[in-house]
Amino acid sequence: MENCIFCKIINQEIPSYKVYEDEKVYAFLDITQVTKGHTLVIPKKHVSDVFEYDEELATDVFTRIPKIARALEAAFPEMQGLNIVNNNREVAYQTVFHSHVHLIPRYGKEDDFS
Ligand code: 5GP
Ligand code: ZN
Repeated sequence: MENCIFCKIINQEIPSYKVYEDEKVYAFLDITQVTKGHTLVIPKKHVSDVFEYDEELATDVFTRIPKIARALEAAFPEMQGLNIVNNNREVAYQTVFHSHVHLIPRYGKEDDFS
């Protein structure tokens, strides 16, 4: 979609640090790392938020998450856990309106994300 920053990232018009990619999803490091390895998982198909998902798209995105979580754990072996966050619409603090799932690695006491 025109003027969508995450569509531009998928199309490599804007650079990103790729974590994972296949024909359905793209995962890349969030520009604001709330903890080390903070990653966004997005469908390649532009949808604004979860209200626009059909079951197939939900399957595409959400079934990939365990694999991407394990890839993060392999890259950051000191991580101890993970928050999975998905904001939908402005009132829920969504700021980029191409649906995305945050994977936020947790490192125990030394990380200050709460
Ligand atoms: P939201 O608040 O919509 O759930 O999260 C949007 C996220 O997108 C934010 O964490 C923000 O840091 C990230 N973000 C916004 N613009 C860019 C960008 O150009 N590149 C990357 N890698 N992340 C971005
Ligand atoms: Zn988009």
